[in-house]
Amino acid sequence: MSDPTSPRFPLTSKRVWVAGHRGMVGGAIVRQLEHRDVTVITASRQECDLRDAAAVDAFMTANKPDAVVIAAAKVGGILANDTYPVDFLQDNLLIQTNLMKAAFAADVEKLLFLGSSCIYPKFADQPITEDSLLTGPLEPTNEWYAIAKIAGIKLAQAYMKQYGCRYISAMPTNLYGPGDNFDLTSSHVIPALMRKAHMAKVAGAPGFEVWGSGTPRREFLHVDDLARGCIFLLEHYEGFEHVNLGSGEDLPIKDLAFEIARVVGCGTALTFDTTKPDGTPRKLMSGDKVAALGWRPEISLADGLASTYAWFLQNADALPERTTEMAR
Ligand code: GDP
Repeated sequence: MSDPTSPRFPLTSKRVWVAGHRGMVGGAIVRQLEHRDVTVITASRQECDLRDAAAVDAFMTANKPDAVVIAAAKVGGILANDTYPVDFLQDNLLIQTNLMKAAFAADVEKLLFLGSSCIYPKFADQPITEDSLLTGPLEPTNEWYAIAKIAGIKLAQAYMKQYGCRYISAMPTNLYGPGDNFDLTSSHVIPALMRKAHMAKVAGAPGFEVWGSGTPRREFLHVDDLARGCIFLLEHYEGFEHVNLGSGEDLPIKDLAFEIARVVGCGTALTFDTTKPDGTPRKLMSGDKVAALGWRPEISLADGLASTYAWFLQNADALPERTTEMAR
């Protein structure tokens, strides 16, 4: 992707703390930054529990980053969100507040906070523009996570408004890619269906089970595209309003399941477990704002699914079983 304008915050020779580097998003951002003349700072959970304000302050003071990316969050799929509301609300509030407060105290120059498309009202007009925030009720299955993320956007804006800080926010759509959580109970739809399709193929089963009715539509962005988008915004964007990062295209879950079956090479006899929640019917985000800034995604869903399945095959044996993922 060419840079149409010179960056307002060039990352060259900067020190960047990627909080959440062990998660799918943080890991992808670190991979991108490794190609740049940037000193990447990461903290293991043992070194710095991000829910502990004193630990975050101490790590920030000791490492003096020029920029911080908040890719750390308690994340999970529709069932995990619905089952662990305290973790999704409280841990995320603590993580983002501790990081912004410590960044301010340490005079960090630039900060990027990452949210999620679930911040938008359940029945927002599609494609969802950034100004739809707080115009209607949220989807109940993930409102805990959404409220935390909305608070994060507002806290970044508050630092900008009260102190003139260059704290910005990006809202990714549903993400997938290498390093995803493939645990069947806590994962998002792509890794779950990919794993189920793989199991069906190995077992010679005719197909696999899909949660819900298969009719909800979702938009998906490969995490490497997301990482490029984050770095683009870090260097180029200084605005008050958050920015959507999506692929601009959505499809019904049923079609996604067929596409995954094709990529994996398993049978296509799908069953639908309608005791599981559908969640929001549709959440296609508008990418107009980031496109006007000069950024576009590059990885098609077909290519992204194929490379993610290749990653899964290489890493399947080492994948941990998790009930919820703490991407830190
Ligand atoms: P959401 O975008 O927050 O709803 O997150 P998910 O990625 O967990 O779910 C997206 C959609 O895929 C929902 O309609 C789910 O019901 C549906 N879905 C179908 N099969 C699965 C599955 O095996 N796991 C998950 N997590 N979702 C599934």
